[in-house]
Amino acid sequence: MLYSRRIGAADLFQITEFTGPTHDALWMLPGLSRETLDAHAAWLNPGFWLPHTNRLIFTMQLFVLKMSDRIIVVDTGVGNHKSRRADSQNMLNTPMFDWLEGIGAGPDEVTHVVQTHLHGDHVGWNTHVVDGRWEPFFQNATYYFPATDFAVFQSRYESGERDLYGRAFADSVLPIVETASTRFVRDGDTIADCLVAQAAPGHTEGQLTYSLRLADEPEYIFSADVLHSPMQVLFPEINSRWCELPEVAGKTRRALLHHAAKNAAVLLPAHAAGLGGWQIAGQGDGFLVQFA
Ligand SMILES: [Zn+2]
Repeated sequence: MLYSRRIGAADLFQITEFTGPTHDALWMLPGLSRETLDAHAAWLNPGFWLPHTNRLIFTMQLFVLKMSDRIIVVDTGVGNHKSRRADSQNMLNTPMFDWLEGIGAGPDEVTHVVQTHLHGDHVGWNTHVVDGRWEPFFQNATYYFPATDFAVFQSRYESGERDLYGRAFADSVLPIVETASTRFVRDGDTIADCLVAQAAPGHTEGQLTYSLRLADEPEYIFSADVLHSPMQVLFPEINSRWCELPEVAGKTRRALLHHAAKNAAVLLPAHAAGLGGWQIAGQGDGFLVQFA
């Protein structure tokens, strides 16, 4: 599935590897209750949650930003032929090459690959398999990794962890650092003259979000995995199962929502389908969400 929208001088695309009811809602968001979900069913069903099976709708995807002289990919999804623990992510075989060529963003033309964090569902298309080896998929691009996440994941890998975090690090991150042009990103850095990194720790220790700054346009924020469900806008203290630093994740979520409400910024969560974005408004101590 492909979505696109024009933002000023840029074309933004979302290429989805898949969208579906993959995650049990109470497993993924342990702070939520079935009663609370039922109370919001009228707008959650079917775009965000399916009550019959209590599953959240998740999208795995790549954002592609095309400008006259740059093609930027923000996060690279699950990837093909990768051995993963989750059935829905294991050994995918999608026609990503054809999708990218189809939007005029062939892998060789991509100039920047930008990562929010190093979980396996965000780094997959960094590499593809060639003659049995993992090689850079975007071979002419410079890859931008969050510096803190890289240090944390590298130390896990070096201590022998080869499953939850180590698998993706081995097949999708290390081959890049060893053979491709690589930079490490910190809070406040600007990439490709248009993306400004902000520290967003919690889901991972070194997660970054990226604000897209284009002349005369609202601020769009690639908000990574700070939010997995719009229910976390209404209940910002609810973390996902995979938030590695739970207390920090809640603070980061609230700070992002506050910033978005104050600046009329549009959020583009990493696992949301489509490019309408989430618009946030403050209400008392809390927040409301609207979808374009
Ligand atoms: Zn994710």
